[in-house]
Amino acid sequence: MKDAWEERKKAKENEYFIKKDHELINQMKHQTEEELAKGYSKGRCPKCSEKIEPITFRGVPMDRCPGCGGVWLGPNDLKILAEKDHRTWFDFWFRQDETSTSERGN
Ligand SMILES: [Zn+2]
Repeated sequence: MKDAWEERKKAKENEYFIKKDHELINQMKHQTEEELAKGYSKGRCPKCSEKIEPITFRGVPMDRCPGCGGVWLGPNDLKILAEKDHRTWFDFWFRQDETSTSERGN
């Protein structure tokens, strides 16, 4: 009787460890996927996965995607561009945006 108890206890323990192992394996799998995704997406466009090209626009370095035309700016780059010639293209760009927004509002 006692042996049967021990057997049952061992079986329960094994069950527990098998379950724990599965959880750990799944966790590791997930981490590996994350690592792989990070490796693959390095220098790639998040929208179309095309290889991003570094360009310089008005003296400001930025990354451009040849696939979809997306542009990535550093935290200060937009500010630098805006200060450089805010009365030209930048002003025009935002005024155009404001106009279309107010038109939609009416
Ligand atoms: Zn793209």
